[in-house]
Amino acid sequence: MELANCVRCGKVFARIGRNICPDCQAEEDRIFKKVRAFVEENPGLTIQEVADQCDIQPKKIYDFLKEGRLEGRNFAAGSARWQCASCGSYITSGTLCNKCKETLQAELQANKRSAVGPAPYTKKDKGEIHISRWRERRGS
Ligand SMILES: [Zn+2]
Ligand SMILES: [Zn+2]
Repeated sequence: MELANCVRCGKVFARIGRNICPDCQAEEDRIFKKVRAFVEENPGLTIQEVADQCDIQPKKIYDFLKEGRLEGRNFAAGSARWQCASCGSYITSGTLCNKCKETLQAELQANKRSAVGPAPYTKKDKGEIHISRWRERRGS
């Protein structure tokens, strides 16, 4: 069991996957249910309007949207969008735009390749050539 400080209230708790304590988790769930019920009853409002009505920070609503817990179509057209964490272009799901996601993927791939490195393969190739020549000589 791992002890951690709750990122929300600072209390020490036994962490099971999440970085907030059970009390804060319950509070988050309560806020989420309130917001979800509100947008279902009042679709087509902007995020700011919903935040004001539910008495919470707009950031909370963006977090729910990014996590996929709330859907953008419940809000006013063009309202449920935010900026890509990397390049700042507007997106409607996750935290990165498709372009930055692709770039990140490509970088990860490149890192994997360079971690393996071409040097050991060159050595191995030379070794194999040496062995096969040796076999040829033995065979003849
Ligand atoms: Zn907490
Ligand atoms: Zn981007």
